Amino acid sequence: MSRRRLDSRSGLPGGLLGEVQTPITLEPVESVYEVTGELGRGKFAVVKRCMEKSTGKMFAAKFLRKRRRGRDCRAEVVHEMAVLELARNNPRVVNLHAAHETDHDIVLILEYAAGGEIFDHCVSDELLPEAQITRLIRQTLEGVHHLHQTNLVHLDLKPQNILLTSQSPPGDIKIVDFGLARRLGVAGELREIIGTPEYVAPEVLNYEPITTATDLWSVGVIAYMLVTGESPFVGDDKQETYLNVSQVNVDFSRDSFSRVSELAVDFIRKLLVKAPEDRPSAAECMSHPWLWQQQLCLSPEPVTVRHFRERSCGTKWAAPPEDPEDKENFRDSPHTHAKRFRLDEETAAAGDGDF
Ligand code: ADP
Ligand code: MG
Repeated sequence: MSRRRLDSRSGLPGGLLGEVQTPITLEPVESVYEVTGELGRGKFAVVKRCMEKSTGKMFAAKFLRKRRRGRDCRAEVVHEMAVLELARNNPRVVNLHAAHETDHDIVLILEYAAGGEIFDHCVSDELLPEAQITRLIRQTLEGVHHLHQTNLVHLDLKPQNILLTSQSPPGDIKIVDFGLARRLGVAGELREIIGTPEYVAPEVLNYEPITTATDLWSVGVIAYMLVTGESPFVGDDKQETYLNVSQVNVDFSRDSFSRVSELAVDFIRKLLVKAPEDRPSAAECMSHPWLWQQQLCLSPEPVTVRHFRERSCGTKWAAPPEDPEDKENFRDSPHTHAKRFRLDEETAAAGDGDF
């Protein structure tokens, strides 16, 4: 994962957030928690399951190295904490419980997502039924919508960073890994080369401005992977992957699509669009008929894109049917178009006290 920073008008490098409310205690993690098995790891972090001794509650402890490539990166860890705090009221984002500091690490004690990564469902021999996939995508969009409303962009959405509260049957989603997340408007225009090439939008690879639409591209990639079990842009090497992404080289006629619904293809096509401004926002996505297909499939007629256009009475997509479970977490009307934030338009927010 490479990172190149361009603009830095704030005090902290790359528009990092520096203020956190959660106390960072020097008390050893092991004195409060019983640390057990490893849950996952990345370049600079290892995540372990742990049990709070006083309550018996399970958590995930993310040990983040403060020194990386010979450089002090404590500010980046604090930034990850600050983003988690900003997203605290978002039920689709993993909750930050506490933080500890050792000589080498800052340890974030996070809500435990016991169901593992949705990635496991992308590489499994048995893919999830579309009814389950649409539920997971709806929840992901709820989380992303919430983040975007807070001016946050995740920038590393991929099946490894979308976890489940339980595995079988799949529970609810929890978004994790806010190391690359940024708050739009705090550091002028955001152009960075970050993330994993396979999942990032063309504007990231082309070093063009990053907006909330950048996350929507990744939602398209995740949806593609859940329905086909394949990664849409991965090439034999990094160069080929870059080329596939920047040319939006994606083939919907492959065998892997033989059992995928027309509506699913339509949804993915609308997100995997080169121009960020032509992608629907998270709120707009929520009214795509694919995500509400199951309810409509109860009707005897097969549901197709054309069918939906006819039903939609001139609106871009059909209105979703009522769903009390999802409404609870998606308070805005799905017709409310989320504002598209561009940093160059949002520089006025730079002095809003985040630093
Ligand atoms: P990195 O920044 O190194 O990618 P992540 O935050 O993505 O770190 O965590 C790495 C992996 O650890 C995740 O992909 C997931 O498998 C596991 N993991 C992270 N957070 C949790 C959690 N709260 N509950 C359960 N597993 C987790
Ligand atoms: Mg990760």
